[in-house]
Amino acid sequence: MSSNPIRIAIVGAGPGGLTLARLLHVAGIKTSLFERESSATERPQGGTLDLHAESGQLALARAGLTDGFLRIARYEDQGSRLYASDGRLLLADDDMTGDRPEVDRTALRDLLLQSLPPDAIAWGSSLREVAPREDGRYDLVFDDTREGPFDLVVGADGAWSRVRPLVSRYQPQYSGLTFIEFGIDDVDTQHPALSELVGRGKMGAESIGRSLMVLRNGNAHLRGYAIFRVPVEWAERRFDVTSPSAMRHALLGEFAGWADALLDLIRASNDQFALRPIHALPVGHHWTNRAGITLLGDAAHLMSPFGGEGVNAAMLDAVELAAHLVGSKDWREAVRAYEAGMFVRVAQPAGEAAEAAATELSHISQELTLAHHQAYMQMRAAASDSATR
Ligand SMILES: Cc1cc2nc3c(=O)[nH]c(=O)nc-3n(C[C@H](O)[C@H](O)[C@H](O)COP(=O)(O)OP(=O)(O)OC[C@H]3O[C@@H](n4cnc5c(N)ncnc54)[C@H](O)[C@@H]3O)c2cc1C
Repeated sequence: MSSNPIRIAIVGAGPGGLTLARLLHVAGIKTSLFERESSATERPQGGTLDLHAESGQLALARAGLTDGFLRIARYEDQGSRLYASDGRLLLADDDMTGDRPEVDRTALRDLLLQSLPPDAIAWGSSLREVAPREDGRYDLVFDDTREGPFDLVVGADGAWSRVRPLVSRYQPQYSGLTFIEFGIDDVDTQHPALSELVGRGKMGAESIGRSLMVLRNGNAHLRGYAIFRVPVEWAERRFDVTSPSAMRHALLGEFAGWADALLDLIRASNDQFALRPIHALPVGHHWTNRAGITLLGDAAHLMSPFGGEGVNAAMLDAVELAAHLVGSKDWREAVRAYEAGMFVRVAQPAGEAAEAAATELSHISQELTLAHHQAYMQMRAAASDSATR
């Protein structure tokens, strides 16, 4: 970057924003990072993510955090199982030699947070709007303060980005699928049969219109999703998350007729439930470059979680934006180059995620899941062949 430093603001300390802040910090470029949450411990960050070698893991390597990553990566949790709703096991992949280890979101966030100076993040800063100034720069308007001016504002503020409206008029659209999240604690000791059912990794059980997906997290915790193809307001009308016993009762009713062994997952759930309607931006979402504003991660290309690409794509965005900024004498051109590459790169995973969201819970979803898994096994076998050659 030119010797005349520019002022960069990053909005959002999710995996994308934190990775960008870290990469620029390593390159000696200072940023101001604003996060809505009041502190690093305001809330647990959610479930488990698999980090891919060519994106999430690459980002951590560029950030100099591979050792820390290896301490939190769970290579032993890469298994996959698929059941029919009557409990028949359709697929069991217990091979742990793949290169998509799981990592708990909170552990990933802590790793990135600890890699930044303690005062790097302005916590409790909920962006209301980005205000363009007459000099071509931008101020950030928060509930009680105004910060700026900034030459470049990076919106890493997720699905409902407040930066996005400056470059795009699109809003995420409901995908037709709603996830109802539940958790099971201390599964190996308290529920050994469920531990065995799920195995080391993730399990799914599908039928038309509804499915169960359960993922093993660290610390013997399972995070489950009951997934429904329903109108967006259906779950709010049907379920009361403040009443755990009513939640369990209603969910068991929705899965009536399923094998008891699968329903035991719902019976064993703890008292934390959440409704998560799944939204996505249009496949191929892009915008005309506007000097001083850009987006990364979900703010730029929110997709349904079925492809398992969201966090990986966000971290790769950070790698590419940082590389362009560090390597260029003209930061405006660097941002243009990042955007042009990113629009092309994410089109395929976004298309695949949209395809999965459209076919999930349909009459062909089981068949597609099996075919998808077979393709993944072939890819893995080919990669291991070429590694041993
Ligand atoms: C149920 C579910 C399961 C998923 N599973 C997977 C998976 O297995 N694998 C995978 O790769 N992806 C998965 N995803 C997608 C993944 O969570 C996202 O793609 C990823 O978190 C995107 O990272 P990000 O940094 O762009 O945004 P986020 O993680 O959303 O981070 C945005 C940050 O910005 C902050 N913020 C928001 N608004 C403001 C504001 N106005 N002012 C200041 N700060 C703000 C937020 O508090 C947050 O810290 C899943 C998503 C869902 C919903």
